Amino acid sequence: MRRQNTREQAARFLAGRYGADALGRFLSIAGCGFIAVALLLRTAGKAAGLSVLLGTLAIAAIAWCYFRILSRNFSRRAAENQRFLGIKDKVCGWFCLQRDCFRQRRDYCFFRCPSCHQMVRVPRGKGRIRITCRRCGYAFERKT
Ligand SMILES: [Zn+2]
Repeated sequence: MRRQNTREQAARFLAGRYGADALGRFLSIAGCGFIAVALLLRTAGKAAGLSVLLGTLAIAAIAWCYFRILSRNFSRRAAENQRFLGIKDKVCGWFCLQRDCFRQRRDYCFFRCPSCHQMVRVPRGKGRIRITCRRCGYAFERKT
């Protein structure tokens, strides 16, 4: 009976709260990661300052995570989550690009378009060539 009441109370407490989302999950994982590294550093007796900094960051990340879960301001939290997803996409996209460039480095050269910063791929070993950016049409010369 008592257990049922506690559960009901918990449900009532969480009703109308924002809850967990992608940013919340990231914050809780980052918090746990910071704690793990801080503990490792402390056990190893190295970088005491860094250990304290990571511990503080961990508390901040977890506190922010709980604040967001319990928040009643849905639109604000959803906007934060969208911003977070945008940054995450950019970071993941950058890593994918680096991985692709690395895999194809034997056959291709990679240049950034001076005009629009689009990455351009050209075959390797063609000497000095004129490259036309496929996105903006800007032409520039590079040695391959
Ligand atoms: Zn371009």
